[in-house]
Amino acid sequence: MDCIIQKAEALDGAHLLQVIWDEGGKSLYPAVWLRDNCQCSDCYLDSAKARKLLLEALDVNITIKGLTFDRKKVYITWPHKHYSEFEADWLKKRCFSQQARAKLQSELFWPECQYWDAELQLPTLDFEEVLKNDEDTYKWLSTLKKVGIVRLTGAADKRGEIAKLGKRIGFLYLTFYGHTWQVQDKIDANNVAYTTGKLSFHTDYPALHHPPGIQLLHCIKQTVTGGDSEIVDGFNVCRKLKEKNPQAFQILSSTFVDFTDIGVDYCDFSVQSKHKIIELDDNGQVIRINFNNATRDTIFDVSVERVQPFYAALRDFVNLMNSKELKFTFKMNPGDVITFDNWRVLHGRRGYAAGTEITRHLEGAYADWDVVLSRLRLLRRGVRRGVQAARPDLS
Ligand SMILES: [Zn+2]
Repeated sequence: MDCIIQKAEALDGAHLLQVIWDEGGKSLYPAVWLRDNCQCSDCYLDSAKARKLLLEALDVNITIKGLTFDRKKVYITWPHKHYSEFEADWLKKRCFSQQARAKLQSELFWPECQYWDAELQLPTLDFEEVLKNDEDTYKWLSTLKKVGIVRLTGAADKRGEIAKLGKRIGFLYLTFYGHTWQVQDKIDANNVAYTTGKLSFHTDYPALHHPPGIQLLHCIKQTVTGGDSEIVDGFNVCRKLKEKNPQAFQILSSTFVDFTDIGVDYCDFSVQSKHKIIELDDNGQVIRINFNNATRDTIFDVSVERVQPFYAALRDFVNLMNSKELKFTFKMNPGDVITFDNWRVLHGRRGYAAGTEITRHLEGAYADWDVVLSRLRLLRRGVRRGVQAARPDLS
């Protein structure tokens, strides 16, 4: 940005700063917000990028006492002789208009969402390139946010590859199943995933109140018959459900369901949670699906007349997930890693024959969206700089 100030003036009894921009348009800034965000070293600790000013020290009725400006800065004096400078670009970015706020929020959180169905072209990148090149890592994580799933190919067919991806992001999400976990047929399985049975569509770990945001699954060994993977875009399924059966959507987005997980793995655990299966934000947008039929508790904390209608709604939701038009089926090969948004994509697998030896082995792990988005923000800076370095004629 290279914003030029044409004019700055105090309005509304000096409770408000108005900046008129050279390129056109104007922005308004409340005096209290400006004082709160004074960037001087008394008010702001630049080394921590954090506010030092205490709210107790803020006069919430403050007015601007003196105001000057030039093309690049606004200079404000406050009562008690405090003095602040604000740069044009800094102000412009924080403009309070609806449009400017939407643009900035979109840059911060990558809200773009591409719905998909049975016709999905599974986004695929090279595992080694993602480990080596920032551009590929950026492509991986931004596509993961936008589409909800990315396949990486060319990993080795041994344990430890997922940990490399964890390092690439920052760190993995530790749960009671360990830093990484092995999906294979196990005697006295402590999880239904550790059998050869069919797994119908689910998200992982709704028994946690903060379910893992991202799941990583690395195929080390694959059985010849069966064991195919199935995925479905949960956000798309919700959209269809709302269209076709608004009452079911209403029930699933308002009923708290108990989930449970009890056992021993990384350490012993007795986990309980309550989630709405379809979780909405304040605007009614779906932000997370929380559904695993295996860990849905026998305990159900609703009044008796709400029980049967809940089951009917859930069954409609599940029927939609299973519809041919929406679900996407594929088979993982040794060396494939699928990474997907566990808050959005439901996954399952077809059953396969049990044998005396292990015929199918996946290594899995979780990551957190805060960690992944943090990495994305850092990578974007570098990727932008790289583009500028390679093409210095671009401004
Ligand atoms: Zn200050």
